[in-house]
Amino acid sequence: MGDAHPTYLWWNGKQTRWEDATVHVTDLGWSTVGAVFEGIRAYWDDGAEELYIFRLREHLDRLHQSTKLVRLPLAYSTDELTRATLNLLRANGTREDTYIRPMAYTANTSGKRFAQVGQDSDLLINTNPMPSHLLTGHAQHAKVSSWTRISDNVMPPRAKNFSNYRNGQLASMEARTDGYDVAFLLNPAGKVSEAPGACVAMVRDGRLITPDVGSGILESITRDALITLVREVLGVEVVERPIDRTELYLADEVFTCGTAAEITPILSVDRYDVGDGQIGPLTRELERRFHDVLRGREERYAHWRTPVGVGALATA
Ligand code: PMP
Repeated sequence: MGDAHPTYLWWNGKQTRWEDATVHVTDLGWSTVGAVFEGIRAYWDDGAEELYIFRLREHLDRLHQSTKLVRLPLAYSTDELTRATLNLLRANGTREDTYIRPMAYTANTSGKRFAQVGQDSDLLINTNPMPSHLLTGHAQHAKVSSWTRISDNVMPPRAKNFSNYRNGQLASMEARTDGYDVAFLLNPAGKVSEAPGACVAMVRDGRLITPDVGSGILESITRDALITLVREVLGVEVVERPIDRTELYLADEVFTCGTAAEITPILSVDRYDVGDGQIGPLTRELERRFHDVLRGREERYAHWRTPVGVGALATA
């Protein structure tokens, strides 16, 4: 996965060959401090011979929200970015599960460290292969981090701003160094916020409970989809509220969710077994149902999937 790169990137309005998409070395540094991005998944459907992007419009709308929060002008509408993304995947002939990462940033920032306001932004769309791990048994052990989550009045977690991710990187490095797979960060109030790149949810007493959007989390599109599926498909109650860390220790099931994380079962938190230390029944069922939605086996949520048109191109 690491070395794979597509033939084309989309860069400032044009499909650009990978080799030609270069910036000057002096642009390193301040240009990325204010940069914002999105992470979007596309799933290859073998039966339909087609690539489907999951909730593309919601992700592109959130890109606009992130640029607004960091006062970065974005010259492209959601419709334009939708067309750009579809055309890019078609041009690359993408026929596998793929991660799509639009990124808005300011170039030529030298000497303008604190005065980026109003500057034009550049926009890059990159893609790379990212196989799904749903239903593979992939699971993780979590540690509550000694690092505190950034907060709305410090660096708003609601924006997908690159700088925010340093907080999650420190927490991840600590967790891995200490022999865990993933960190859970507490917010300044001491309540559970999220993992470095994913939201957190738990099952207690037959209900799904997840930190509310005021707990210092990204307004996750996967979280939103899973809340809908748990309510509408599983018929299980969902509660959004602040969560104490000890509730995680006592939970019957815990999982993280996000575009990259999909649904990742958590088997222990701070070496407390979650439930019996195995993947729980609700998590397993939700993985199965989510998988069916992503792969187009559940028509009810077809509106969440955007066909790319790769299949039509291949057979044309
Ligand atoms: N929190 C953070 C900090 C993230 O980076 C992500 C991944 N985008 C998520 C939560 C999950 O959000 P989504 O479901 O929209 O990918």
